[in-house]
Order: sequence, then structure tokens, then C-alpha cells
Amino acid sequence: MSENLKPRYENIIIEVNDSDTFEKILRRINIPENEVAKILKNITKVKTLNNVYKNQKISFKIDRKEPIKVLEFSIEKSKKKKLLFSRNNNLDEFSYKEIITKLKKVNVYKEGEITNSLYSKAIELGVKPNIIIEFARIYGFQIDFQRDIWKNDSFQIVYENFLDEENKVLDTGNIIFANLILQGKEYPLYFFQKKKAKDHFDEFGKSIKKSLMKTPINGARLSSSFGMRKHPILGFNKMHRGTDFAAPKGTPIMASGDGKVIRARWCGGGGNCVKIKHNSTYSTVYAHMSKFARGIKEGARVKQGQIIGYVGSTGMSTGPHLHYEVIENGKKINSQTLKLPSGKILKGEDRKLFEIEKIKIDVLKSELIAKKN
Ligand SMILES: [Zn+2]
Repeated sequence: MSENLKPRYENIIIEVNDSDTFEKILRRINIPENEVAKILKNITKVKTLNNVYKNQKISFKIDRKEPIKVLEFSIEKSKKKKLLFSRNNNLDEFSYKEIITKLKKVNVYKEGEITNSLYSKAIELGVKPNIIIEFARIYGFQIDFQRDIWKNDSFQIVYENFLDEENKVLDTGNIIFANLILQGKEYPLYFFQKKKAKDHFDEFGKSIKKSLMKTPINGARLSSSFGMRKHPILGFNKMHRGTDFAAPKGTPIMASGDGKVIRARWCGGGGNCVKIKHNSTYSTVYAHMSKFARGIKEGARVKQGQIIGYVGSTGMSTGPHLHYEVIENGKKINSQTLKLPSGKILKGEDRKLFEIEKIKIDVLKSELIAKKN
């Protein structure tokens, strides 16, 4: 009697486990052997479908009336794509097509006070890690994430989220607006897209990019050194002649600017170190690395932001950190007070378009803030 009460059609969604295969999954959904064989045959016909992977979603629509038949099944290929197999009428064959999930773009506003690191605060607010990393990257030219950020400094951010039909965040887009408020001073940045290039600019239309970075590792996870009683991180002084960034072992170190590697070897007290010559005036040194990045050897050309090695504690060092030096005309100088020529300023038509964009972004931000309150 209970059999009769069961609905004729059943939808099953399977989430793949570690040890699953297509076959194991098909045996789990209670269908006859000949159906299992038929479906397996159809799946293997599709060359781009390899085996299953963990957390992949596979769904079935089954007609439970004898003879039991699978009417339809779909196999997720990525978060945005799935293959939908449908049974052809009267035939025992399935035809399939690729379904692309339509994503909805929404702008998100977040703000917070940095109590420990930008990263921990932003995660607490639900910001996706790749957005936090990008936020730190765009400020890496002008902000020293270990010394310029004090406890209770704050940030604002407007960025794009892409949602599926169930309003789940599947992807993130650009950072439209960013602001760091450090000891009362604001550093707003606006996203502006020209024909091909996209970049962030300050409120005066000046590009964030400079020839050298102030923080040559991603600052997202760096915690502020302000207020520490015992200061484990030396600032720049006569004896030390470099700037230290305390960061976990393995944190990627980036080339501060474009240039040529003129040293990538053991340097005694500096441990594994890299020296890059940027031009006839400037060189930079990165010391105590745990290892060099692939392809980093003397004579190699590097691009700004390219990973050249990883934070370690080799040589004379008391704990994992990056020791960073800027050399100007053969003399070690303080990288953190170094005044480099500022980035390119937008002019003419581009500037006009930027000013319009800036107003739009400010309006958008106000609207998002108003919605929150
Ligand atoms: Zn040092």
C-alpha cells in the first residue's frame, strides 16, 4: 500500500564524495541494472566528462513506474556550467546540451575597523578572500600594511558579486571603490575602465601604479605593528638599513618593480636573497627567503608584482620575515619614506570620462550605504 502512495516521479541530487565514481553513484539511486549500463554508456560518450570530483552535484529525474526509467540527469562541470542529458522519446538514447547558469551581478558595500589585520576583519564581514587580496594589492604601491595601519583604522569597499538563481555567490568581479582611512586621512580609489585597460585611480585621476611598491608582499594578512610593546619588527634605521615585514613562512614575495635579477643566491647573513636592478638609479634587495620562485636566477627579467620567492628565516634572522632594501644610486635608503614619481594622471577625454565615472561611483556608494541603514 505504501508503494502506491509514493509519487511517480522522483528528483535526486547527489553530492559526490571522495571515493565515488559514476558507477557507484548510479547504484545508489535504486534503478535497474540495464538503466545503469545505459547511462554509463551515454556518459562515456562525452569526451570532456572525466571522472567525478568531490562536492560535484549530479541530479536525476526518475520515473518510478515500472519499468523504472531515468528521464533526465545533469552533471555539474563547474559552478557555472552543467551538462543536461534528456532521454529521447521512445528511444533509449540520451541527448545532452550544456547549460550555463545565468549570473546576476550585484554591488556590495562593506566597511570595517581593522583591529588585527585587514584580512581577518574582511573575512568577518563576509568578503571573499580574492577580493581582500586584490584590495591589498591595489594599495601595495602606497601603503605599508605593517606600519601605516594603526589599530582602529578603517576601510570601505564596493565590489561586484555574481549570484546564481539561488542567490549564492559564485564569483566576484571588480573592486569599484576602495577607501582606507588611516589616522583620519582618507585614501579613496576609483575603478576606471578605458578601452582595453582597467585600473584604479585616486580622486584626482592619478593611477595607483608607481615604479616601485611600498609593500612587496600582499599586505592583506599583515598585522599592524602599532602598539606592540616589544617591537619585533625593526623600522628603518642607520644600522639596519632595510624594512622588515613579519609574515608567515611561505608568503609570496613580489618584485617591487620591473627589472633584471642580478643576484639570486645565498648571501650569508641575508640567507637566500634576491637583488633586482630596476634602472640606472634603483635596485631592490629581498632577504631571508625560504626559497626562490621558479625561474628566478641571475639574468632573469621580472615584471612588477611577479612572485620571486617566499618568506623564510634563512641567514641571520630570528623569525620568518622579509627584509626589503631599496638602493638609490648605490646607497641604501628608507623605502617607506621614498618619494617616487606618482602614477600617470588621466588627461583630456579620459579625464572627463573618469570624472563622470567617479560621480556615478560616489552615488552608488551612498545608495548602498543608505540601503544598509
Ligand atoms: Zn631586516
